[in-house]
Amino acid sequence: MAHQSPPLAFRIGHGYDLHRLEPHPPKGQGRLLVLGGVQFPEHPTGPISHSDGDAVYHAVTDAILGALSLPDIGQLFPDNDPKYYGVDSSIFLRGAAARLASSGFAIANLDITVICERPKLSEHKSKMIANIARFLGCDRSQINIKGKTHEEVDALGDGRAVEVHVVALLAHTSNE
Ligand code: MG
Repeated sequence: MAHQSPPLAFRIGHGYDLHRLEPHPPKGQGRLLVLGGVQFPEHPTGPISHSDGDAVYHAVTDAILGALSLPDIGQLFPDNDPKYYGVDSSIFLRGAAARLASSGFAIANLDITVICERPKLSEHKSKMIANIARFLGCDRSQINIKGKTHEEVDALGDGRAVEVHVVALLAHTSNE
């Protein structure tokens, strides 16, 4: 008889993303800056990306996919597929949420660190959290966002990139 391991109680995943930031056309190729579904139209630079370049949604997606031992965001949603050109990155988050829903696991909590020199994120964190909670079907209290600068060091500190780290803890929910 085949041995079946008991289901794990928890699974943990780490997500990471970085996007280069450039001025908007014609000075550069930067898109409108969007982080966690919040747009920053006043910000003078934006991400170089195939999709809308929301590094927060990308890193959260990869953290969940990683926790489920699934292929990563680049494998599931290739950045050379015209279907995803300029697309709202919530499509990736919803793709991860759909896979999560059929996995027997649910979000326990997410801890998100966004590193960029500007813009300041403090007044936008609650909106980002609400956006992520809505797409993942969890409570806002299960999501935390920290904004950090890079102390004016290297590309991040020069404002030439934005970087995001996410840790996702999933808890087993079903009896299957
Ligand atoms: Mg990305």
